[in-house]
Amino acid sequence: MHELAICQALMSQVETIASERNASHVVSIVIGMGPLSGVEAQLLQHAYPVASAGTVAEGAELVIESLPVRIKCLQCGHESDAKPNKLVCSHCGDWRTTLISGDELMLMSIELEKASDDHDDGDGPEPGATIH
Ligand SMILES: [Zn+2]
Repeated sequence: MHELAICQALMSQVETIASERNASHVVSIVIGMGPLSGVEAQLLQHAYPVASAGTVAEGAELVIESLPVRIKCLQCGHESDAKPNKLVCSHCGDWRTTLISGDELMLMSIELEKASDDHDDGDGPEPGATIH
């Protein structure tokens, strides 16, 4: 299942970030998705509880933001928003355009809950912190 694999890849990204920042729990995850990404937002929402079960993101809210489709005209160089099913230049109407964005699926932000520091407090810099 395509969406489950995507969700699992997303979870491993989230887990990496959460452990880097010493977070105990993920509150919410915001992903940006272009309409041309080939991923169904609804299927992703369905796959998400399965993929996140047992991870640091279990129970976190998944927010899917829809990203606009942007194209650049090869004739006049104009950049414009476009409909996913009609990639024509809004300036001159030419269909010879390239896609700037609209096919991506990316992690935009995550909200983390820090691990309670019930150990090592007031005892120098945080583990992993570097001072230049
Ligand atoms: Zn144009």
